[in-house]
Amino acid sequence: MATQLILLGAPGSGKGTQAARLVSEMGYNHISTGDLLRNEIAKGSELGQKVQGIMTRGELVDDATVLELLNANCDLSSGSYIFDGFPRNIDQAKSLDEVVIKNANHTALYFDIDLDVLAQRLVNRRTCGDCGEIYNLISKTPKTEGVCDKCQGTNLNQRKDDNEESVKTRLGVFKSTIEPVLEYYESKGALKRVNASAPSEEVFKEVKNTVK
Ligand SMILES: [Zn+2]
Repeated sequence: MATQLILLGAPGSGKGTQAARLVSEMGYNHISTGDLLRNEIAKGSELGQKVQGIMTRGELVDDATVLELLNANCDLSSGSYIFDGFPRNIDQAKSLDEVVIKNANHTALYFDIDLDVLAQRLVNRRTCGDCGEIYNLISKTPKTEGVCDKCQGTNLNQRKDDNEESVKTRLGVFKSTIEPVLEYYESKGALKRVNASAPSEEVFKEVKNTVK
């Protein structure tokens, strides 16, 4: 029977990398709400036009619209899907259950990582302004300081929102909104945690064992 996966994890927890491998190596369908919204706009449907209006005004698309899109784009009876980026809070978790998941077999997978460790990771992240390669001043330093290994460019930049203060704020908000979500899935017996501070390869092994 198909299992639906709900991925939960802080920004920078490696959730996106693991999602990509679940798709390429295990045949999951990746559902990103951002992609769904962009596709709907591209289709020019009535819903797409409504979404475009909301986004142009810089507002957030309401949950009911996102749920409608999810329902229209997932056939849980025939495939296994990864839900990524939704739910982000307890209200979304409950409505995802009621409207989309219903009685389907599902697991919520939490990429568990100490938030102080994660903060250090994010603060030390540098991105090559020329080719997009990502470095970390602690765990993945360029061979020559300040020079990109890949393209030899010298624009290794810190993203504006990766400074210590905004990282702390972001992770604080994440922690307070995710805790009720974790409790919710735990109470349903659907929560699994993987140790996301391990190297990526080990995390994937654990993910595979968990979803088997
Ligand atoms: Zn580069």
